[in-house]
Order: sequence, then C-alpha cells, then structure tokens
Amino acid sequence: MLSYAEAARLVREHAASLSQQIRAAEAVDLLGSLGRTLAAPVIADRDQPPFPRSTRDGFACRAADLASPLLVVGQLRAGEVWSGPELQPGQAIEIMTGAPVPSGADCILMIEHAAVDGPRIRTERKLDPGENIIAAGSEARMGATLIPAGTRIGAQHIAAAAACGCAELQVYTRPRVAILATGDELVAIDAVPLIHQIRNSNSYSTAAQILAHGGQPVLFPIVRDDLPTMEDAIERALDSDLLILSGGVSMGKYDFVEQALLNLRAEFFFTGVRIQPGRPAVFGRLPSTSGHRYFFGLPGNPVSTLVTFALFATPLLAGLSGQPVSAMSPRFAEAHLATDLKGKPGLTRFLPAHLESDASRALVNPIPWQGSGDQTAAAQTNCFLVVPEESGDLSTGNRVSILLL
Ligand code: AMP
Ligand code: MG
Repeated sequence: MLSYAEAARLVREHAASLSQQIRAAEAVDLLGSLGRTLAAPVIADRDQPPFPRSTRDGFACRAADLASPLLVVGQLRAGEVWSGPELQPGQAIEIMTGAPVPSGADCILMIEHAAVDGPRIRTERKLDPGENIIAAGSEARMGATLIPAGTRIGAQHIAAAAACGCAELQVYTRPRVAILATGDELVAIDAVPLIHQIRNSNSYSTAAQILAHGGQPVLFPIVRDDLPTMEDAIERALDSDLLILSGGVSMGKYDFVEQALLNLRAEFFFTGVRIQPGRPAVFGRLPSTSGHRYFFGLPGNPVSTLVTFALFATPLLAGLSGQPVSAMSPRFAEAHLATDLKGKPGLTRFLPAHLESDASRALVNPIPWQGSGDQTAAAQTNCFLVVPEESGDLSTGNRVSILLL
C-alpha cells in the first residue's frame, strides 16, 4: 500500500501527461470564464501602463528643482492629457492620481509634502527622478503575454483581460466527470429513507467539488451492489472524461467495485493508500473506444469521499482541464495547532478542522468527530488538519499542515 506522498506523486504524473494533450476550446464571455482554464493566452493590446502614470495626487515637476519654490502653471486630471507648453525648470503642474505625466516632468511631489503659497509650492523633501511615476510599458509591453494558456481564471485574471479589452476568452471545454454512487442502502436525496437507508449525499458533494474545479458533473443513477449491474453502469459512463465511483471499494462481501473494474480490464495504479480517512481509495484507468478513461474508486463514507476527491481527483481534473502541474490543487498551507492532539504513527491523517486566521496568525482546531461517516463534523470544517504518517502526539502551538477546501 502506497504512502500519501507516493500516491499523490503518481496522480500528479498522470495529471501532468493529461495536461499536455490537445483539447477542445470554446469562446465564452469574460465573466463566464471564471473558474475555467484559459486556452489561448491573453496578450497586452498596448503598453501597460500606456502612458507614464502618476501614482499620487500632487505636483509634476523636476526632481532637480525641488530645493527652490516652484511656480504652478496648470492642472491635470485623470483622463486629461497636458496640452500646454513643455514644463520648464522651476515650474510644476498640479496632477491627480492616474493622469499622464506631462513631458518635462520627472517626478511627482505628493500633495501631502507640498506647502502651497499662492501660485507657488515649496517642499523640504528630496525626490529622485521617476518617483511616484510608473513608466509607460514598465508593467508590460504591447504584445507581451499577460496570462498564459493553462491558467485557471480568477478575478485577478478577469481584471487583466478586461484591461486589454477581452470581452470574450478562449477556454478549454469542461471535462465531463461521471459520478457513480454505489450501495444497496442508498436512496435519492428527495426520498424519505427507511430506517436502514441512507440518502445519496456523495453524488452531490462530489458534483460540488467537480463544479468548484471547473469540471462538468454528470450524475448517474445509484448503482446497486451487484457485479453485472455495476459493470453495466461503468460501461455506460465510459464516454465521460473521468469516472468517480463512491462506495464498494472496501473488503466487504458486497464491495464489487474493484472486481467490476477488473472485469472491464482496468489497469490499477493504486488500490489503497496509507491515509485516514480514505484508505481503500483506488486509482486506475479503463480502456475505452477513444483511449483511456481514468477512474477513482473512493470509499463511500462521506468524509472519506470528500477528502480523497480533494487529495487525488482534483489534480487529475486540473490536468484534464489543461492546467500545468505547478498550479494544481490540492492546496496546503501552514497553521499552528490550537490544542494538544493524541496520535499514533502509521497513516497520514486528514482530520476535520477549523482554521481561524487573520493577517498575523493562523490557528487550527480539530473538530471532534465520530469517524469518516460523520457528515455533521464535516459540515463544520473549513480545512483538514494533516497529521504526517510518522507523527505521534502533537502539542499546542506545533506547526502543522492544513488541506484547504
Ligand atoms: P462503502 O464504502 O460502500 O463500504 O460505504 C461506507 C459507508 O458510507 C456506509 O455506511 C454507507 O452507507 C456510506 N455511503 C456509501 N455511499 C454513500 C453515498 N453515496 N452517500 C452517503 N453515504 C454513503
Ligand atoms: Mg457500499
């Protein structure tokens, strides 16, 4: 059985090879690109900034002149361009943030640092040429790549694309991800379950994770714990880009998922990982008429399904979306433990936890839970606390990794 690190590396290798493949793209309007993966780079359509830009409200002048009072000869607002004569020695032009610096001026004296005396200003300050001015083209030259293909679009990318007039962006088509929940005990979420029945929540948590990572979830009907039925269902899902099965991968007498996959000539990369929750997780690929189809068999306990999807399926989904490995989730961060924690080495553990953070500290608190079926605890988490495989007891204040959701 692989360690978490080994399993994660394996998945990333497959994800990396997927991200190299040529895939279909489509044009979407700028806001519709949020969360999608850019298929064609965003190119600067002009220099950024397009003109030397004042970063302050103040006075455009020459740094060399500041020792003496300066005569203010005009005013320049953002959205205006100076049309008067070139600035002469000993002169200043009142200027607003965002306005183009008039020629002849080489710095902006901040309004806060100027004493106004009738038509003249004075200052005690010394400035260097260039101060409070962003030179034209210093952020990017026209034609430069502002956002490379493969980038997952966030608000910061929307800003840059909007600034160069991209009303539409080319993005890769969303990978279609089939979701197959298995289990005789499962009923639809709008059904009233009998005492021994469980609503199929996994299909929805998985669908939510797929959506959050730019994929298109395809929910299949609940699959019963019966080998031929399972094989049929898997075959019907093979035209998707990725298959996520939940449940039926443990050692129980009616856990048929692995056998069904095997009967369909699956190649397995791992069948179990030394993690908790999620130890029985399997990863592999199936032959299909158009190449291979990757699959994950995730254990059915809801917290296991959630965690193993985050750990293993999100990087593969990123690869299928055309994102480079360097940008792939899952994302981990560091925090300080807010309490003591008993532990025994052997498995990498991902404990439901709550992160409380501000600009100067990040404190993580494990949430009491009844194990991997505890959806109530899971609903209180905003992260999972990572306890390394070799780790025993941990103490308050210890630095720990957290898996961000
Ligand atoms: P399994 O992995 O099939 O052994 O299932 C382990 C536990 O997870 C059982 O208690 C199931 O009832 C529960 N479970 C399995 N599939 C789902 C699902 N789709 N939604 C919610 N709970 C599930
Ligand atoms: Mg089951």
